[in-house]
Amino acid sequence: MDDLHKFKVGIMGGTFDPIHYGHLYIAECSRHSYGLAKVLFLPSGQPVHKNRPDIIDPAHRVRMTRLAIESNPFFSLSTVEVDRLGPTYTVDTLEQLHEKSAGTEEFYFITGADAIMEILTWKDVARVFGLCRFIAVTRPGYSLAALNKILNDLTPGQRAKIHIHETGGTLISSTEIRMRVSHGEPIKYLVPEGVERYIITEGLYIPKINME
Ligand code: ATP
Ligand code: MG
Repeated sequence: MDDLHKFKVGIMGGTFDPIHYGHLYIAECSRHSYGLAKVLFLPSGQPVHKNRPDIIDPAHRVRMTRLAIESNPFFSLSTVEVDRLGPTYTVDTLEQLHEKSAGTEEFYFITGADAIMEILTWKDVARVFGLCRFIAVTRPGYSLAALNKILNDLTPGQRAKIHIHETGGTLISSTEIRMRVSHGEPIKYLVPEGVERYIITEGLYIPKINME
């Protein structure tokens, strides 16, 4: 099947600890601008590239992702990465999706400008380029100049598979949300209501006081 007739599918990968409007916004903007038929949200399992030991239980991250996307008919959830035991390599997931689609779908991996720089250092980067295109969305605080420098080292074929998408962007990050919750500050309007409620009900991101 030639590329023109393939279904374009967005893949929005992330730790989603927690998921926030920044994630939903870049997924929706990418869907709209690149004519994606749907966007698959892919919470990471045990991320290889994230050096934070205190990432919360995948079950919480999956539930929050489900709550966050439920109002958008173009968004769906995939738990393949959290269901896999051991460290997660997104390249394996992409390969799996590719095989399953039997060449009928073309994958667009949606990432922030910070994450694309990490991705380009993956050991299997050449293999990744055979499996998907990238939509790299600008993110406040991350310079395009740094990204462009890395892009210059790619082959012309690889470079052509990265689409830089400049949006106004949002300043939101999961780090900020975790900090705000731990300080008792509001997160309303930074995350969907269902996610806010879930965080409060489950008591997530509140530091545990050691009473011993
Ligand atoms: P943390 O602060 O814990 O790193 P995060 O907000 O960066 O969390 P991730 O789950 O690490 O969220 O990110 C998943 C993807 O979403 C990454 O590709 C990241 O670059 C992108 N992303 C997250 N927030 C934004 C934002 N505000 N604007 C653009 N891209 C974003
Ligand atoms: Mg991040």
